[in-house]
Amino acid sequence: MLHIGCHLSSSKGFLAMGREAVKLGADTFQYFTRNPRGSRAKAIDPQDVAQYREFLQEHHFAPVVAHAPYTLNACSADPRVREFAWQTMADDLRRMEYTPGGLYNFHPGSHVGQGPQEGVRLIAELLNGILTPETTATVLLETMAGKGSEVGRTFEELRAILDRVELSEKMGVCLDTCHVFDAGYDIVNHLDEVLAEFDQVIGLSRLKAIHLNDSMNPLGSRKDRHQKIGEGYIGLEAFVRIINHPALNSLPFILETPNDAAGYAREIQLLRAADSIRSQSAR
Ligand code: FE
Ligand code: FE
Ligand code: ZN
Repeated sequence: MLHIGCHLSSSKGFLAMGREAVKLGADTFQYFTRNPRGSRAKAIDPQDVAQYREFLQEHHFAPVVAHAPYTLNACSADPRVREFAWQTMADDLRRMEYTPGGLYNFHPGSHVGQGPQEGVRLIAELLNGILTPETTATVLLETMAGKGSEVGRTFEELRAILDRVELSEKMGVCLDTCHVFDAGYDIVNHLDEVLAEFDQVIGLSRLKAIHLNDSMNPLGSRKDRHQKIGEGYIGLEAFVRIINHPALNSLPFILETPNDAAGYAREIQLLRAADSIRSQSAR
């Protein structure tokens, strides 16, 4: 069965997100660990979390994705920005122990002129300072579009980070379809080849979640502008191949498309319908 959901606001707490997801036809979702611009996080209500965990079990949810704030830049040239990244991620991972075994996704960062090699070094340094043998979360590097000086546009850059992380068994990757397409990986015409390359460079066993977004811009544009499913340069047919691909079809798929709740519900329904048509004809 297809595991699909969308990005949800965490402002009403955990249980409210679980209920909202079910209302939209989802069995997974993503939320920001704090304001996306990265202010202080709300205090966690242990009772809310306990009810939430029970709710997810009852409704057979797939793994849920927590997303770090966009302002977190582990490889900034400014030591204060790096310190903020350190504090934020350490605090997020502490808070994630209320929901043990979760997925924590972050943007590797922008090296702002220091060069990708220095970026990779700083990102790994931060992870090595934060991850402990007790960490139960899996920390995901998101594949990036390569806008500006973003690190993580190529599979090789992600691999270079993973290679430097000591507790590398705590690490995984989240593939964003808009980002890899904008980065130049042709998932429309060469999905098998792109996934083979991912497997060769990073290893498909590292892949823990997919961000499902169409792109407003053509292949290799390095723009990172998400579009609704089927309304961008990737197109619905490619998404049907992606959600059905044997290397991907058991992963949680998260929509981060420009939609309100009704729009998300429609996209979830559309992709669930496309998925069931394919699996029926395959039988
Ligand atoms: Fe992201
Ligand atoms: Fe994303
Ligand atoms: Zn994006």
